[in-house]
Amino acid sequence: MEFGKFGGQFVGGEVLQAVKEVERAYAKYADDLDFWSEFKTYLKEYANRPSLLYYAANLTEMLGGAKIYLKREDLNHTGSHKINNVLGQALLAKRMNKTKLIAETGAGQHGVATATIAALFGMECEIHMGYEDVIKQSMNVYRMELLGAKVIIVHDGLKTLKEAVDSALCAWSKELDKSFYLIGSAVGPHPYPKMVREFQKVIGEEIKEQLHSKEQRLPDYVIACVGGGSNAIGAFYEFINHEEVNLIGVEAAGKGLDTKEHASTITKGVEGVIHGMNTICLFEENGEISPVYSLSAGLDYPGVGPEHAYLHETKRVKYVSATDEEAVRAFEVLSRVEGIIPAIESAHALVETIKLAPKLNKDQIIVVNLSGRGDKDVKQIAKYRNYELVD
Ligand SMILES: *Cc1c(COP(=O)(O)O)cnc(C)c1O
Repeated sequence: MEFGKFGGQFVGGEVLQAVKEVERAYAKYADDLDFWSEFKTYLKEYANRPSLLYYAANLTEMLGGAKIYLKREDLNHTGSHKINNVLGQALLAKRMNKTKLIAETGAGQHGVATATIAALFGMECEIHMGYEDVIKQSMNVYRMELLGAKVIIVHDGLKTLKEAVDSALCAWSKELDKSFYLIGSAVGPHPYPKMVREFQKVIGEEIKEQLHSKEQRLPDYVIACVGGGSNAIGAFYEFINHEEVNLIGVEAAGKGLDTKEHASTITKGVEGVIHGMNTICLFEENGEISPVYSLSAGLDYPGVGPEHAYLHETKRVKYVSATDEEAVRAFEVLSRVEGIIPAIESAHALVETIKLAPKLNKDQIIVVNLSGRGDKDVKQIAKYRNYELVD
């Protein structure tokens, strides 16, 4: 297995053949300097990297403890860290002579990022999305179509992200010769979790370099939210061998860990197989995968990337959780204090920062990964706060 007992390729038949083809192609390009230099060029020229490392002076002063820096992934093109991974996988697909990208999406963020790069590269694009999510995020459905993608609405099961992944895998298995499955997080069968990490680790590499030029030192803490775990592994990876850097992943506690309505996979889950990987997962008593809940659509996943399961088991990373209410308060605090509206996913990482910073000294440093911008969430938070919107 790639990550202790976690990872693997728990898929069969045609999908296994396709995953093996991706594995061989990735192994070939993993050492190809041309491939990585093309990737870096697109990150810089198209996605707007490096993203800023911003010293949040007002938030730091308000909390009265550690210095807080925000890694501004919200400033990337399409508004989150997702573009890093999509660029990497789409470039691999091109090198494999594939002409079509297939992806799943929950709220639509990954679907929009994939449709964006498909437009840029002139590739065909098909996005699978559960009916429940289509209703909640109809604007993203239009956005994907505007970018030239075809949106497939999934009516199976609970009609959300899990079923969208199953549907996308099934569609992929029917046209393996021309299509590439572009997964949205550090999850799925090998080589996806590792490959996605390699495309996202630029976040941590930049944090290290930028903090070195501002403070000539490493951070004391790096904090990130965890859905499937791609922004978190991207922010953490560079620091894993620096034992003095504390790493904290924040899961969604939804309406509370003592309710069934949460998505705190690592905190509450057990070992099991989901979407082709052995990892930690939330199961019902009858052995079925649990329906999960979070106000934040990006954190609403019943599994987690296998590398996080491993980092939890080895205790290198500490995993905590934050409720909807705490995340909404942090969303409001950052907006008011810094003039930055964070994604509701990223607000979960801010919750932990707001709890931790006052307990630390003024010479300590916390870096929070601001995985995305919050424009997409404004309407939903207004509703959560019973604010009357006319439209
Ligand atoms: C999708 C998304 C996440 C959650 O995905 P990870 O793979 O856990 O990073 C977090 N933040 C934002 C802004 C997202 O769009």
